[in-house]
Amino acid sequence: MQSTDTPFSFSDLDIAAPILQAVHEVGYETPSPIQAASIPYLLAGHDLLGQAQTGTGKTAAFALPILNAIDLSRREPQALVLAPTRELALQVAEAFQSYARHLPDFHILPIYGGQGMDSQLRQLRRGVHVIVGTPGRVMDHLRRETLDLSGLRTLVLDEADEMLKMGFIDDVEWILDHTPPERQIALFSATMPEAIRKVAKRHLREPKEAKIEAKTATVEAISQRYWLGSSAHKLDALTRILEVEDFDGMLIFVRTKLATEELAEKLEARGYSAAALNGDMSQALREKAVDRLKKKTLDILVATDVAARGLDVDRISHVVNYDIPYDTEAYVHRIGRTGRAGRKGEAILFVAPREKRMLGAIERATRQRIKEMRLPTHQDIAERRVEQFKELVMSTLEEEELSFYRQLVQEIGREQKLSPTDIAAALTYLAQKDRPLVPAEGPDLSEMRQERREWREDRGRADTGPKKRGARERGFDDGGTLYRIEVGRNDGVAPKDIVGAIANEAGIPGKAIGHIKLYDDFSTVSLPADMPKESLRRLEKTWILGKQIRIRLWQDGAAPRSLDERPMKRKSYPRKNG
Ligand code: AMP
Repeated sequence: MQSTDTPFSFSDLDIAAPILQAVHEVGYETPSPIQAASIPYLLAGHDLLGQAQTGTGKTAAFALPILNAIDLSRREPQALVLAPTRELALQVAEAFQSYARHLPDFHILPIYGGQGMDSQLRQLRRGVHVIVGTPGRVMDHLRRETLDLSGLRTLVLDEADEMLKMGFIDDVEWILDHTPPERQIALFSATMPEAIRKVAKRHLREPKEAKIEAKTATVEAISQRYWLGSSAHKLDALTRILEVEDFDGMLIFVRTKLATEELAEKLEARGYSAAALNGDMSQALREKAVDRLKKKTLDILVATDVAARGLDVDRISHVVNYDIPYDTEAYVHRIGRTGRAGRKGEAILFVAPREKRMLGAIERATRQRIKEMRLPTHQDIAERRVEQFKELVMSTLEEEELSFYRQLVQEIGREQKLSPTDIAAALTYLAQKDRPLVPAEGPDLSEMRQERREWREDRGRADTGPKKRGARERGFDDGGTLYRIEVGRNDGVAPKDIVGAIANEAGIPGKAIGHIKLYDDFSTVSLPADMPKESLRRLEKTWILGKQIRIRLWQDGAAPRSLDERPMKRKSYPRKNG
């Protein structure tokens, strides 16, 4: 297996120049471990069993070899990627697009339930090279013969264990049985439960295995915390942390060279002395940046893994994993940049909901529980700024020659009949105008609440051993809210279709979807009471079996009320200045 300490480059892989060019432009420096382990096998045409979770770079691990083998002159599906959710299908399609930017006329089509058939059919007729789809919709097309897979060369099962959990495994097998027998298969899964192994055994031919192994390591001098939040809020989260953490030097890890520059610029714009450290910089420039950090003319370095290899600066008190690392080894290496020379170190890890598995893997590898951190509130920031201001006043009194200013203040007081307090208040305001001591309210970073709570419960369960999974977890005895949807028995709907569509469209975990009851013309389903409004909005536009479900609240049989009457939960948030 490729270790993070022995980098080799994308150009060592036998990949066509236009694709390498795109990878370079996207900003990847070296293949991630799962890429290094998978790409050579896939290029050589082997079947592959890959054990890797989201965040490891697994998408490029299969996308690059697929693109490398595409015959652009043949406008027919040559690769099919099956993904458990619409969200993932779209992400994968986007990733393909970015690596295919120099392949003229390359076409990829995401297909998933809930999306109108017409545009899918139109695009299929026009001809596409790669399809990324959820199993249900792919099956639909195969049944209707609107999708012809006779020219298929590669099939990828992405997040196979998730597809299993969501009840799609039979559909997946059905699709596998309806593809040409000689196609190459890559199966990626974060875990390898027996059911997945069985699928692999039945359909894969002498598969090669690629696995991200978790080595254990000790990192005792370092206190570790994580923050669970969406990537859209990472910058705000980081800025809050910077406001209140007592840090000396800080090293922030991101995935790409571009991100090192972008984030460093954003931090500079917010008044921090920050610089990028990446593999594109000359050795001399890199040394200069590190030197500035040592000499305290710089406080923050934003780095990629490669560029920060071996970095040894005593004053790094904090390591922030802004982008989660690909594997546990990289994590251990990253946080080992702090806590040096007998000092204490702090490590902070940003985790997106989709990356939770990696957090678990890191905890196992380091044999340490990572504490969840509370983001500093608006109040915390205000208190901290006041404290800093007081310190600044004291140090200025101690260190500066102020007799001229004392006389000036006395003069203003005499002339305007003002108390020293009034004058000091006005001057305090002026001094802090660009960085108000009571900052404007920040964004509401609490939308992950539900997700976080659910997950904490899961973690709690893991601690106390398995417990019976009962009605409470299914969400209907638990204050779940009942909704009515306009598909029923007469439409031939099964609960599985409803669970699949809702999980897909609303991004609600299957286990949070409660009791489903089928009537002739409609059905009822219990959903989490605190489901975000955005999820409901998406569900309103969802289709099942060719019918729009027009989800409505169900109130004890009374006329269902429109969702529009629900109050908006999320408020707008003004940006603070400075
Ligand atoms: P994935 O595990 O495929 O969801 O990828 C997670 C993230 O890692 C995505 O944002 C990718 O753009 C990024 N990524 C994938 N491969 C690399 C690489 N070799 N270097 C840097 N970033 C990468």
